[in-house]
Amino acid sequence: MTTDTLRSIAQLRNAGLVPAAQTAALEQVAARYAVAITPTVAELIDRDDPNDPIARQFIPDPAELASQPQERPDPIGDDAFSPVEGIVHRYPDRVLLKLVHTCPVYCRFCFRREMVGPGGRRGLTADKRDAAYRYIRQHPEIWEVILTGGDPLVLPVPRLRAAVHTLAAIDHVKIIRVHTRMPAVAPERITAELVSALRAPGKTTYVALHANHPRELSPAARAACARIVDAGIPMLSQTVLLRGVNDDVETLSALMRAFVECRIKPYYLHHADLAPGTGHLRVSIETGQQLMRQMRGRVSGLCQPAYVLDIPGGAGKVPIGPNYISAAAGGAEQGYEVRAINGGLHAYPPRT
Ligand code: SF4
Repeated sequence: MTTDTLRSIAQLRNAGLVPAAQTAALEQVAARYAVAITPTVAELIDRDDPNDPIARQFIPDPAELASQPQERPDPIGDDAFSPVEGIVHRYPDRVLLKLVHTCPVYCRFCFRREMVGPGGRRGLTADKRDAAYRYIRQHPEIWEVILTGGDPLVLPVPRLRAAVHTLAAIDHVKIIRVHTRMPAVAPERITAELVSALRAPGKTTYVALHANHPRELSPAARAACARIVDAGIPMLSQTVLLRGVNDDVETLSALMRAFVECRIKPYYLHHADLAPGTGHLRVSIETGQQLMRQMRGRVSGLCQPAYVLDIPGGAGKVPIGPNYISAAAGGAEQGYEVRAINGGLHAYPPRT
């Protein structure tokens, strides 16, 4: 097992993860978008499977060099809603706080791929961090702060603890949510010290784990999640729907069940954003809706995430799951037609 994170095409080639014939094209990809594969992820990749779903998420692909006209550098419009550097204030009661723009791995479909990585934006300096905290203090409507980035768990533990404590000391901030891939891609980083840094005195911390394939919930990842949940920190999941990774009902169901087994409540299934050079990884919205319909019929309600789309440009997140009810032919005064899981149509009476 490699002991260092792989960060170049040469290192990937030496590790047997990319063919020599692709080197030139992949060097071009790596010059444009960051590359990082942790030892845990390298170990999860099946080198004998040319379509390995873990490799597909992290190994650069020449297809990334082809951008489509509808793709954009800031697909969900973070910058349009950033009043001070590091803050995105899109919805009244919550903000994103981006302290860092680095990650333990770089996902080939990343919606912030133009911002993250060693060639991307810099982490916040102390001055800018203070300005971000000041903004949160000055806006009493902010009930929740979402630490994202980048991956906030790359921060050294003392800095993470300081961030959590600073936010916890703001009276109106009640919830601190941490978005991370770390428990799955570098579970050894989830130490007792790190977990204790996540706990906010008198406030509630949630950790949202981003994982896209059930194999990412390895025994070590499950143990890392258990350390978080055992400390009284509830966990949620985030998954991106990706072609060739999880766009079949068996894989998606196994992933959602794995989350629930780890005491992680499935939260969001994201329709992949229009990030540059990611068209080969997106599926259609109809495919996503069909998968949600199939999952509704076969796995527990506990395992159902909300299928959501971030409207390009920054208008926010909306649920785009399948619809099961419509007004009757004569209008809602006449009642409704409800489609059952097995496809059957049933009448539901109007309000009387
Ligand atoms: S961990 Fe998140 S921010 Fe980092 S590369 Fe992956 S999707 Fe992007």
